[in-house]
Amino acid sequence: MRIEVITTLPELFKPFVRMGVVGRAIQNGKLDFDIVNLRDYTHDAHRTTDDYAYGTGIGMVMKPEPIFEMFDDYLSKHSHPWVVFPSPQGKRFDQKKAIELSKREDVMFICGRYEGVDERVMTIVNEELSIGDFVLSGGETAVMIFVEAMARMIPGVVGKQESVENDSFYNGLLDYGHYTRPSEYRGMSVPEVLKSGNHAKIGKYLLKDALRRTMLKRPDLFLEHKFTVEEKAALLELFKEMHEKC
Ligand code: SAM
Repeated sequence: MRIEVITTLPELFKPFVRMGVVGRAIQNGKLDFDIVNLRDYTHDAHRTTDDYAYGTGIGMVMKPEPIFEMFDDYLSKHSHPWVVFPSPQGKRFDQKKAIELSKREDVMFICGRYEGVDERVMTIVNEELSIGDFVLSGGETAVMIFVEAMARMIPGVVGKQESVENDSFYNGLLDYGHYTRPSEYRGMSVPEVLKSGNHAKIGKYLLKDALRRTMLKRPDLFLEHKFTVEEKAALLELFKEMHEKC
């Protein structure tokens, strides 16, 4: 897939595109990632991308011309991308949205700064996405969150697809707990079942752990989850075990 980030601060993305999952995805050719400096579409000596707000004069607003000129230039070379504007006013970004976006061929993110973009820019935006009910100074950090979550969803980017599918939210539940060596540490032991080599037993234990964690940590997710037959059976066992412990 292809991603373009339109920003006035391209430097912010330098380590992001070199390291970690996103860096690997780019190096392996799974992700075509382009950072566009919006200032390249300005025509004055100061490369100005913002101006005073009409009406109130409070704060600065990103000018429409560089954004529209960038978009025209893009369309003259490529087909129409899906355009996302990171915004605190947008729909809350989640795993479902990461999966949906990762299936698109071409996604363009336009990073806002100051009070945001001139409202007329919204005519080229397909959707506004938020990372939460708080206000950042710019869209760049939000875009890094979107892109990292999306990159993990591109097949072949994370080593084992299984590890992605067991992650929290992928199937509507939280992930189970993980252990590594040593088997004993400061009087704390790794659960015996995980060392048993019995894959059926391990699978059931992990499913029950994921169900238990979701129920306790995120009752909202638990209540809206559509349980499979296997999950219902595991839940029954889990409830019995919890009852016995009481
Ligand atoms: N005046 C805008 C408002 O209250 O809706 C906030 C502008 S904010 C200072 C500058 C830019 O940061 C926004 O245009 C947006 O691109 C980005 N931004 C801020 N908070 C965000 C959030 N919660 N999620 C995604 N992007 C955000």
